[in-house]
Amino acid sequence: MSSLKRESQTCSACGITAGIFVCRGCLKSFCLHHTNEHRNSIEQQMETILFNHERLRQFVASEEVEEYFQQLHGHVSQWETQSINKIRDTANDIRQQLKFINQRYHDSTDDQLRQLKQQIRNAQNDGNFFENDLKMWQTEIQKLQSTISEQENLQISLANNSESFISRIKLTDKTDYDGTIAIDYFECNRKHVNSEDFTNLNLKGEYSSGNKLFRFKLDDLEQNTLVLMGIISASRAKNVDPYKNPTFYGWSTKNLVYLHGVPHSNIDNYQSD
Ligand SMILES: [Zn+2]
Ligand SMILES: [Zn+2]
Repeated sequence: MSSLKRESQTCSACGITAGIFVCRGCLKSFCLHHTNEHRNSIEQQMETILFNHERLRQFVASEEVEEYFQQLHGHVSQWETQSINKIRDTANDIRQQLKFINQRYHDSTDDQLRQLKQQIRNAQNDGNFFENDLKMWQTEIQKLQSTISEQENLQISLANNSESFISRIKLTDKTDYDGTIAIDYFECNRKHVNSEDFTNLNLKGEYSSGNKLFRFKLDDLEQNTLVLMGIISASRAKNVDPYKNPTFYGWSTKNLVYLHGVPHSNIDNYQSD
């Protein structure tokens, strides 16, 4: 308690005790010089917020957003046209086949019927026919009948391919990774080393390649807690201590980036919250 009290009476920037002002916003104490500096910094942050606001407003009003939606509309229309063309082409193709089969069937049956009629008419006129002739014509007629019946076996059926003829489209969020990864995708183990608590959350299973997106949300974080997130090669995952693991790449608090297990600051201006 006493150290807290002493702290509140000294400037939090330079430590002197003369002319102390307390900031109502952050409750920190400052000397006159650092009060001005603190106020300036707050005003500068306000400028940044105004700048970001203006930039966002300009972006929303810009044609870029409109163009983006136009582009999405374009993709839908393209899919629509391609799908309709696919259906039209297939229907025309089947119609063509039907026309061809129908024509061939008429040509051949008409021809055979005409020839048969001629034979029967000639025999009838001559009176020159016997039981074997009747039997032959009867057989001819039966053969033609079965050819006609065969044609009637045609039907239009749906092709049951596993791959859909026309793929259904849907509107999705690019960042969605099959929905949300629940915490039970992780194995949790806690350790107590050198009077410090460690909690490791390891993803169950492993990935060998591909782009994966993970989003973490820390609901509750105690002060002075160090957070470290990253990836470790499956072949070296047994060594869970990232500090000694050359395959570890990740991010941590205090603006630290880990490359092959070694912490670096000032990597691509990475800043932790
Ligand atoms: Zn000061
Ligand atoms: Zn303040």
